[in-house]
Amino acid sequence: MALKYPDSMDDCAYFTRRLVGDQKIVTWVFKETCPQCKKGTMGKPKDPKTGKPKIRANEYTCPECGHTVEKEAYEDTLTANIQYTCGKCKNEGETQIPFARKKVKIFDEAKQKDVTADAVVFNCSKCKERIAVTKKMK
Ligand SMILES: [Zn+2]
Ligand SMILES: [Zn+2]
Repeated sequence: MALKYPDSMDDCAYFTRRLVGDQKIVTWVFKETCPQCKKGTMGKPKDPKTGKPKIRANEYTCPECGHTVEKEAYEDTLTANIQYTCGKCKNEGETQIPFARKKVKIFDEAKQKDVTADAVVFNCSKCKERIAVTKKMK
């Protein structure tokens, strides 16, 4: 499977690189076309003063027709592209999974205990190890 890589961050609704021990994960999610008018690309609303997207906005909006979707609901409909190196078997792989986040228990290295986090989860194609990409904690 060959994944499409983003040309620029502007193409992405989400992009993250994680490195935990031997496990490397790069996750990106392309912005998609407005489901209503099929013309505009859904994005964060722009600040009318600066013309820059409001990164912290809690919704996505279509610049063509104004169709607006709540951030989490919109992101759950997207597809996550993932390039990874499995921390367990060192397998390098690529996968595509729905960007619908689930509550999962993961081991927090910093806190040294299990915590519940929002994450997208997939399994290593070789050893079936569960790999979770957590939503960045603020
Ligand atoms: Zn639209
Ligand atoms: Zn593996």
